[in-house]
Amino acid sequence: MSFAATVLTLYPEMFPGPLGVSLAGRALREGRWSLDTVQIRDFATDKHKSVDDTPAGGGAGMVLRADVLASALDSVEPGRPVLAMTPRAPRLTQARVRTLAQGPGAVILCGRFEGFDERLFEGRAIEPVSIGDYILSGGEMGALVLLDACVRLLPGVMGAASSGVEESFESGLLEYPQYTRPNEWEGRTIPQVLRSGDHARIAAWRKAKAESDTRLWRPDLWERHVDARVQSPSGAHDKDEGHKQ
Ligand code: SAH
Repeated sequence: MSFAATVLTLYPEMFPGPLGVSLAGRALREGRWSLDTVQIRDFATDKHKSVDDTPAGGGAGMVLRADVLASALDSVEPGRPVLAMTPRAPRLTQARVRTLAQGPGAVILCGRFEGFDERLFEGRAIEPVSIGDYILSGGEMGALVLLDACVRLLPGVMGAASSGVEESFESGLLEYPQYTRPNEWEGRTIPQVLRSGDHARIAAWRKAKAESDTRLWRPDLWERHVDARVQSPSGAHDKDEGHKQ
């Protein structure tokens, strides 16, 4: 079973875009995942093909119409999770990405302008998804981000299967720093421990680095990690979905 993505957008020409190159592009050509787009404008009913209108209550910009968006959504075969890109949503996490990647695919609705008429979320089963605390001009980049994160986890897409599980967030921490040859660059050498061949010492060093860097760069993640440790000092938190990012 391969992962099927359908993107509803006013700009279908943005796809596959960057997902047509490198690992994701090769996987697309190999049929490990599929991508199709739906032009939202095709579902407009008036003679001007309008998809948006002015905000009720006043204010700047335009709002995407619920009726047009619903018709576009209803044209897609049911059976996959439907996600809408919006900053008014929980942030996407690696745990959510992993679950999506294990499923049949995703239908992704991309906003533009001021976003969606809120009634759309009442009238259809749609999961709102944000990719971070900043505002994009459209949901397309968000859809590309989400799909890229899913596709790299599909079987056969990444070279070494293990490189999917040791990464930042998978353990609730950022990843440890990485180094490669040359051993010396501009007078800086690779930490000696990494060249020691002592796997236990290397693992301990990496764990300590992952912890100190998480503490420094992502105090929010660190706090959750510490809370989890307090609640399950046995280390069982490592396997708990709820603590992953
Ligand atoms: N007025 C809205 C922002 C609209 S931005 C607000 O303040 O909430 C236009 C579109 O870009 C949105 O409908 C959404 O599809 C997309 N978008 C913007 N920021 C995003 C984010 N952080 N995550 C996901 N989608 C985003």
